[in-house]
Amino acid sequence: MDGASATRTRPVNLILLGPPGAGKGTQARILEEKFGLVQLSTGDLLRAAVAAGTEAGKAAKAVMEAGDLVSDEIVLAILKDRMADDDVARGIILDGFPRTEAQAAALDALLKASGQTIDAAISLEVEDDAMVERVSGRFTCAACGEGYHDSFKTPAKDGVCDKCGGTEMKRRADDNAETVRTRLQAYHAQTAPLIAYYAGRDSLVTVDAMASITDVEAALETIVKRVAG
Ligand code: AMP
Repeated sequence: MDGASATRTRPVNLILLGPPGAGKGTQARILEEKFGLVQLSTGDLLRAAVAAGTEAGKAAKAVMEAGDLVSDEIVLAILKDRMADDDVARGIILDGFPRTEAQAAALDALLKASGQTIDAAISLEVEDDAMVERVSGRFTCAACGEGYHDSFKTPAKDGVCDKCGGTEMKRRADDNAETVRTRLQAYHAQTAPLIAYYAGRDSLVTVDAMASITDVEAALETIVKRVAG
């Protein structure tokens, strides 16, 4: 764990905002490793619920496949459950949540109940046109979750994960060009207003996420160290 979180008496709570393909998951995983924070991805939690065949998963499946937003009720129930786990006390990086103003208000209330707040809502700024290529080319290692891309980041040995040696790669059902366009529309209609929501609370920070993964990583590291202060 880096000194930034080790020396604090309260956790650092971050939000990564941005459309599909902006790099939220990639950067959240890096921050998790670097600072010992916990990545909370509502997309991952929902995909796990779909795979497990829970009631929430059954209700969410078709909505996710279409690229629309799952109801606030389902998402909030899943998130609250996860936030009750002990590891969350180390600090969180919210990836893909909140996505609506109702979710943002519910999050404020949830954190307030334990005397906490959001330290920074980081908006990863990108151009829509580039997102379709970024999202439709991506795949992950089924064993460790390491992310790859057909054009931008291929494994050193075809079909073998650089990180864990796993040989099963998977692609998300909703990572196709058509669904990405619906997801981008959902982002602009329902989630982009949160940029003003957090600016109004003085917790918004913007980062140019058209830059390389390592440049974005460096910008985020500076932000985390500043808010962890
Ligand atoms: P993601 O992994 O963040 O790209 O999310 C994949 C899909 O899960 C989205 O397109 C939505 O259908 C659903 N989803 C994830 N997070 C949320 C959320 N906070 N609110 C509503 N739907 C969500």
